[in-house]
Amino acid sequence: MATETALQPIPSPDISIHSIRSDAGRPIRTFGKKYKGKIWDTHVHLDPPGKQSGEGGNPDQLLAVLEKAGIHRVNIMPTPNEGSFDKAKYFPRGGTAGREALHSKGSRQIRVFCGAEFLSVWMGKAATKGYKQKEFQERIIALDVALTEGRCHGIGEIGLFHFNKSGRQLVLEVPPTFPPFLSLFELATSNESWVDLHAEPVEPGGKSRESEVFGIIALLYKKHPNLKLILSHTAMTNPTNLEALFTVYPSLMVNFKLVRNHERWKNLEPNCDPDGRLYEDWAVLMEAYPDRFLVGSDAKFGRKGFKLKRYQKEIRLFRKVLGGLDSNTARKIAWENAVRVFGN
Ligand SMILES: [Zn+2]
Repeated sequence: MATETALQPIPSPDISIHSIRSDAGRPIRTFGKKYKGKIWDTHVHLDPPGKQSGEGGNPDQLLAVLEKAGIHRVNIMPTPNEGSFDKAKYFPRGGTAGREALHSKGSRQIRVFCGAEFLSVWMGKAATKGYKQKEFQERIIALDVALTEGRCHGIGEIGLFHFNKSGRQLVLEVPPTFPPFLSLFELATSNESWVDLHAEPVEPGGKSRESEVFGIIALLYKKHPNLKLILSHTAMTNPTNLEALFTVYPSLMVNFKLVRNHERWKNLEPNCDPDGRLYEDWAVLMEAYPDRFLVGSDAKFGRKGFKLKRYQKEIRLFRKVLGGLDSNTARKIAWENAVRVFGN
């Protein structure tokens, strides 16, 4: 059994960390006239089917709501925790099958990201309980094959640190230099695949994990200068740190969702107020780095209680937010950046 004793230290971050938590009452950017152009929603989940599935689990339903919302493309992926609630034996199957079925119906409108369903939760457990090399090999080969065969178009949503923010979330924590985690990025780089990574830099109670998160990012770019990394949810850090990351890593991308419920996003730097209006510092950062942001609604199709109407409403809100940015920035974030990085 491999054990944690082999872990290498995490290097220092390439940026100097600004550990200030932003004021939720700071100035906001008002909504603009709705952005009417194309949108590529680059971070969307489709849960495995279950007894209490919500709306959107059916591919036809899902494709129909994309049409209604005016969404031209989506990247559909498992959540970091999917491996813990898909009860299929060994490799979770239900979620993967659903996403692949959606892709075969929606062809190029749907891009499938994969790997998290059989790697994220597994890595968290393997890091504490130990694992057999063969178990890891089977998983990494499965991912490699899915990428090579074109059933999978990117890797995600991989969880590094995913804490309990709502009071009922599973905690997922992988030691950043855990060898399988590092191997995953080797595979990604050799396949030239984008990795969508969820890494919370601060615990809900306020404990900073910033030096670990930004330290591992430094290590990954050092090992793989051509790394294709997307940090989920604007990296869940403040605009100052994100700007520093953008400066050091010219290819780094982030997706953004509109985090209106600040209670469920404690210490993770919501980028908008409770009405969904961007904080001015975020709007300014987007306009200063228009090439680095992607839309990523984080919708959870098929989850208990999920409503298709809610997705349409969310996209309408994105259009108002995008309309408040300069038109060049809005077009890039909504569509052109995604076309550049994922290919149309
Ligand atoms: Zn996430």
